[in-house]
Amino acid sequence: MSAQPLYVNDDDFFPSNDEHERWEHQGYEMVVGLEVHVELATQTKLFSASPNRFGDEPNTNIDPVTLGLPGALPVLNRHAVELAMRLGLALNCTVQKSTFARKNYFYPDMPKAYQISQYDEPINADGWLDLPDGFRVGIERGHLEEDTGKSTHVGGAGGRIHGSDYSLIDFNRAGVPLVEIVTRPDIRHPEQAKSYVSELRSILVAIGASDAKMEEGSMRVDANVSVRKPGADFNTRCEIKNVNSVRSVGRAIEYEAKRQIVLHEAGEPVIQQTRHWDENDGKTHTLRSKEDADDYRYFLEPDLVTVDPGPEWIERVRAALPPLPAARRETLAAASGQPADSEPVMLVVERDQDAYVLDVGSASNGGDVALALKHVKEAPDLSTVVPAGRLAVLTSMESSGAVTATQAKTIVESMIAGEHERDPEAIAAALGFEAMDTSELESMVDQAIADQPEAWEKFCAGEGKAMGALVGAVMKASKGQADGKAVTALLHQKKS
Ligand code: ADP
Ligand code: MG
Repeated sequence: MSAQPLYVNDDDFFPSNDEHERWEHQGYEMVVGLEVHVELATQTKLFSASPNRFGDEPNTNIDPVTLGLPGALPVLNRHAVELAMRLGLALNCTVQKSTFARKNYFYPDMPKAYQISQYDEPINADGWLDLPDGFRVGIERGHLEEDTGKSTHVGGAGGRIHGSDYSLIDFNRAGVPLVEIVTRPDIRHPEQAKSYVSELRSILVAIGASDAKMEEGSMRVDANVSVRKPGADFNTRCEIKNVNSVRSVGRAIEYEAKRQIVLHEAGEPVIQQTRHWDENDGKTHTLRSKEDADDYRYFLEPDLVTVDPGPEWIERVRAALPPLPAARRETLAAASGQPADSEPVMLVVERDQDAYVLDVGSASNGGDVALALKHVKEAPDLSTVVPAGRLAVLTSMESSGAVTATQAKTIVESMIAGEHERDPEAIAAALGFEAMDTSELESMVDQAIADQPEAWEKFCAGEGKAMGALVGAVMKASKGQADGKAVTALLHQKKS
């Protein structure tokens, strides 16, 4: 038990690093379930024909339905339903007959004073998402609902309503179609939560359901966090709102878990509430006590009928699903010889550049996929400015030893900068990158051996470290032109 006073659920409360250590070692585990809202990439809103577009002049994409004017009736957007189905199928859900409900609550940016959502009959239920490391996160549901408008609080600190001078409301976002994807409380570690959000984002982009930009709010994460001793019953949770980057997801739940562990250790209750993640101070703060489903007075939306896609439509959507990120990582892994969960493979698929890298391999001049992967990982701009065929030429020059790895990197930079019409051969010639004559290279190696007999002896005795001095000397003598791999090969050849 802690002797110092504890400020239960107080906003100033902050667990020290020691307490962090303590929870790792005292055998608590965190229990996390995520609720992710994504804006669907439709042309128009969920129940009206106003454009669904981010960044327009405020209050220009509006109409009577969006503003909740009396007598205005919602008409369901077919494309939104199809995108929700696509997502459900990508998450291994059952796509089913569903209904809409009114969720009653008041927000200034929601003039109807209710949100049309799906409640007990969501369109997608009971699926899962496998993380790249194989860990499976259960998906409880993925339901359709409309977004609210957006309030901007002017004056005061930090854009929050408290202390502001006045508030502005933009209804452009009101009625934008959302899918809310709710996981089961399966997540046990901040890294799993981050990985889930990244993987979900990649899936959303891959299937064209959303641009999933956390920085623009088209993907928003709420995290439910509790802690327990493994095997014990679940404890009371808190829900953290306003987490708007993958990194913050990890930080917020880690902070919140620590906060709760200190409370448990002190015998203080964890009060179920909604908390706000503040990126600036790195803490969660009390927002409001958590509302229960009862508070919303859900009832069936009388202005909309049941949505029953039927097996034919569902199967058509399933058949048209593009390859998902996991399958694409496998393809790129097989073509490049790198593991599917290695950093370059993960990153390049996440950036949607895997097709480009594979194109390098299938170019008429047959480039090297592993080298292309390395270059694209390091220089993301390649895929937008350099045709795959050009990168294929460069990788062939590199794999044949015509240029070294270091030189190839310089050529990549020049190609991106647009020099010599992005022609790698012309750039190599202009920079004087010519393959070194084998005999020239060999005499440099001989010279390095003669200059450093001790290093040579050690190298011959099997001391790997001694090689560095010899290779370094050749590099220096050749002014960086020598191919490190060729030098190493020559040294080994001479040793035997
Ligand atoms: P509500 O109806 O209050 O939103 P749900 O049962 O729908 O609650 O759960 C919301 C989210 O909270 C889900 O992602 C779920 O996995 C998660 N969750 C439920 N119980 C816990 C718990 N004890 N600890 C952490 N997360 C939980
Ligand atoms: Mg919920």
